Amino acid sequence: MQTERLRIAIQKKGRLAKECQELLKRCGVKISFSGERLVVHAENMPIDLLLVRDDDIPGLIMDGVVDLGVIGENELEEVRLERIAMAKPAEYDLLRRLDFGGCRLSVAIDKDNTYNGPEDLNGKRIATSYPNILKDYLDKKGVSFSTCMLNGSVEVAPRAGLADAICDLVSTGATLEANGLKEAEIIFRSKAVLIQRKGEFAQDKVELIQRLLTRIQGVIQAKE
Ligand code: ATP
Ligand code: ZN
Repeated sequence: MQTERLRIAIQKKGRLAKECQELLKRCGVKISFSGERLVVHAENMPIDLLLVRDDDIPGLIMDGVVDLGVIGENELEEVRLERIAMAKPAEYDLLRRLDFGGCRLSVAIDKDNTYNGPEDLNGKRIATSYPNILKDYLDKKGVSFSTCMLNGSVEVAPRAGLADAICDLVSTGATLEANGLKEAEIIFRSKAVLIQRKGEFAQDKVELIQRLLTRIQGVIQAKE
């Protein structure tokens, strides 16, 4: 269903939420975030914000349900690969890489083990929330492995005897260290990105998106 107003999906709560809201504010979009609302209307522009879990944002764009979305490239790529495997629509346009949400998806192993390269992961069980990105990467390296799918507490899996290694998001490495693990292989570098659905847009929406992009450019440049 197409609406007159531009629909933008952003994370409701979590690591991207605050910076998304801040970016929109700096772009001059007037929004008052309050309570448990799923949709909030901008006061001064024809923009509606959808506040959702980040996991849902790539699908909302790929199904054409919302016009724009802000999402970590890690989540975007994981959903894209998953949808390709299920023969579901998996396309989007990348409008801009943003200047927040930086992290990397890495394989980590027991800190006392040696690591000589991906071949050391052959036959191992790896706990992760990103089975598709991991498989894509290790398939290309000719490594066969099994996964242990976990959506939380991935870093405790080796100690709990559930897996030999993990593949999880890392920013400082403190969580790995606290769990007796060390980063062995970076498989994906990620930042937050602004993406757009495929398909037709009314002319006024095209112009609004262009105006937003120009402002985002200005906001990011001003910080550099
Ligand atoms: P939701 O409740 O919306 O599903 P979540 O728990 O899946 O949230 P967050 O932990 O809020 O997700 O992380 C959202 C995104 O922030 C990640 O997918 C990633 O792109 C980015 N990010 C940046 N730094 C980190 C980090 N150190 N650990 C995890 N994610 C990070
Ligand atoms: Zn999530």
